Amino acid sequence: MIVLKSAREIGLMRKAGHILADVMDRLRATVKPGLSTLEIDQEVEAFLAQRCATPSFKGYRGFPATVCVSINEEVVHGIPSAARRIAEGDIVGLDLGCIVDGYHADCAFTLAVGEIPVNVQKLLDVTRESLDLAIKECWPGRRLSDVSHAVQAHVEAHGLSVVRAFVGHGIGRALHEEPQVPNFGDPGRGPQLRPGMVLALEPMVTMGSWEVRILDDGWTAVTKDGSLAAHFEHTVAVTEGEPEVLTRR
Ligand code: MG
Repeated sequence: MIVLKSAREIGLMRKAGHILADVMDRLRATVKPGLSTLEIDQEVEAFLAQRCATPSFKGYRGFPATVCVSINEEVVHGIPSAARRIAEGDIVGLDLGCIVDGYHADCAFTLAVGEIPVNVQKLLDVTRESLDLAIKECWPGRRLSDVSHAVQAHVEAHGLSVVRAFVGHGIGRALHEEPQVPNFGDPGRGPQLRPGMVLALEPMVTMGSWEVRILDDGWTAVTKDGSLAAHFEHTVAVTEGEPEVLTRR
């Protein structure tokens, strides 16, 4: 069942989303070569505590950290570690959620650290653009798979691949609610979007094949062929009119 949210509930999710937007701004400024991914996690956890928000991921099905940090061929769910340091030229996926008064928001972006090749910048740009196109589909009356199709069409037009194993999701009192939001599929299918639906849209895109595998840590998803991957995510509320991106200031 897709749970519609009231204006009050969306207000709480907006509050959570704006805290995440602030975290993302800080990460853009602070993630530098030499920093360990555990240091990133600790800083974000302290910042959320200052803002009276609870991390969504820590303890979720046993995930041990506040932020998922996924570098280069890692697609999603990378576990922060003192041993893993950011290097010049890395692309770093940073994914986190937080809870305010029982309501979640979820967002992610992939950051280029220093100079990266033109084709890797294109991976980042196309993935972010595909998320923007997905958001533009979130009007009442559109079908869920219109959102999915917008991502796939843009990504594949640029010769890149959409990951199939992980999908976006409804969000609210739970981090993952119905419906699932794949980043691929034909348009015009699935439930109609209605005001009060809140969706975490999150294209994951690779430069090679879309196949992934999970590392022995039980969490980190990497591309099977070792190609680079990018991930962008926003929490988006369907309204009577224009979609509202709750994780953007
Ligand atoms: Mg998510």
